[in-house]
Amino acid sequence: MRLTQLFTKTRHNAPKDETAKNAQLLIRAGYIYKDAAGVYAMLPLGLRVMEKIIAVIREEMKALGSQEVTMTTLQRKELWEQTDRWDDDKVDVWFKSKLKNDTEVGLGWSHEEQMTVMMRDFISSYRDLPRSVFQFQTKLRNETRAKSGIMRTREFVMKDLYSFSRDDKEHDKFYSEVQKAYTRVFDRLGIGEWTYLTYASGGAFAKYSHEFQTITEAGEDTIYVHKGKKVAINEEVLNDEVMKELGVTRDELEEVKAAEVGNIFNLGTTKSEPLGLTFADEEGKTKPVVMGSYGIGPARIMGVIVERYADDKGLVWPAAAAPYQVHLVRLGSDDDVIAAADKLYKKLEDDGVEVLYDDRDESAGTKFADADLLGLPVRMTVSKKTLAEDSVEVKKRGDDEAVMMKLDKASFGLVGKE
Ligand code: ATP
Ligand code: MG
Repeated sequence: MRLTQLFTKTRHNAPKDETAKNAQLLIRAGYIYKDAAGVYAMLPLGLRVMEKIIAVIREEMKALGSQEVTMTTLQRKELWEQTDRWDDDKVDVWFKSKLKNDTEVGLGWSHEEQMTVMMRDFISSYRDLPRSVFQFQTKLRNETRAKSGIMRTREFVMKDLYSFSRDDKEHDKFYSEVQKAYTRVFDRLGIGEWTYLTYASGGAFAKYSHEFQTITEAGEDTIYVHKGKKVAINEEVLNDEVMKELGVTRDELEEVKAAEVGNIFNLGTTKSEPLGLTFADEEGKTKPVVMGSYGIGPARIMGVIVERYADDKGLVWPAAAAPYQVHLVRLGSDDDVIAAADKLYKKLEDDGVEVLYDDRDESAGTKFADADLLGLPVRMTVSKKTLAEDSVEVKKRGDDEAVMMKLDKASFGLVGKE
């Protein structure tokens, strides 16, 4: 992508009403556009980051044998009444609307109910189980507070996965596989080091649920971490019982701020019973399906990455989430410099490297400041000076030192192999 073609621009200041660091930087760098409090649009660069994050999650969910669908935003009131979650007193994030004939509908903030009812059409026998289904779908939630930038918005894409099992044993096995898959997702996206499996309240069915909490000052939750065991306890369930179960003592735990990037939940039969999702077991006996639900917020991950990695110059992307891998800077507009930079751009693209090419006629100061703000992993600079040595200057974002690399050798595969 050439910067002269990209419609977005960097800017010096974030909007005055934007207080979250992640949104301030992402707006300044032209990754997102703020429409209203808690409502952000993804611009080309931001969308690429989201797609990278989503691709990693999708790969790990498919590796579980799960199948992808897209459910709808419009949801029937009756379904939610059957599990007693239609009332605003029961669920405080509902957006609701009405059809022309006055029928009330809800705008999906989650999909357990709808998914359970849909699966009645496909599950009737033990032979139809186990199954799991996932989606990336836009949830609408009337969140009270929306001060954390893209980490808490009123409209956001969620990866939600639902599992359907014959019994608790089968459920537990899948649950622990998802737990491992989640750990891989966060490792691959560069936040594994700070992300803790966290014991949280389990709701009506299970004793605990598990959250994946990433330590960050920007987080809204307080958790108690045991760094040695790499586990944490959410403040809502911090008590002697859970500490004993985990084999930890209070003085070994450190209180930190964290953001929930994902969670996994044993639903038991709390959805299948009221909504009538049953199957005939091997003896022909009718039983309710045992279910689980598993969420991840790709945009919240994006926000957490920004919060954890950014420095005083701007964004810093781990390779797996970066919109492009190389920020190619052309300094000067002499014919030979333009030719050399164009050639390198083409060569890198031919090699399959994702390149953002700053082909604008701007000063070195402006171009380098923008490169730092945009935060791509590798910056390559072609100028009269580097051409005098038949070279390109290569600098990793976050490194102070740049290295020179011969032009005919410059390929992304070489970067980093000092
Ligand atoms: P929280 O306690 O932070 O409100 P939650 O328990 O409501 O989260 P879930 O309903 O389980 O979250 O959603 C699954 C995942 O979706 C969360 O782990 C988080 O990553 C993401 N998520 C939840 N709410 C939002 C939001 N308002 N904006 C962006 N991402 C969100
Ligand atoms: Mg919530």
